[in-house]
Amino acid sequence: MDRRKKPFVPRWKQKGYKQKTTCDRCGFRAKYPSQIVVFHVNGNLDDATITNLRSICLNCVVEIDKDDSPWKQGDLMRDF
Ligand SMILES: [Zn+2]
Repeated sequence: MDRRKKPFVPRWKQKGYKQKTTCDRCGFRAKYPSQIVVFHVNGNLDDATITNLRSICLNCVVEIDKDDSPWKQGDLMRDF
């Protein structure tokens, strides 16, 4: 798939979810949007309903990864 032709929009964004500036897990306040990523808590990246989405800071991303949780990182935003 060549993403240069079309602007890439994350699935969670297509559904109207807005990435927060505060981590939903630890309360970290991000200075830059790239410090927060969106997670799908049921592990299904196609399920972008609001209740399935969390804004998570990069520090928590590492912990979630180690905790063997079903949470999956959603599509990344690209800032051009
Ligand atoms: Zn956090």
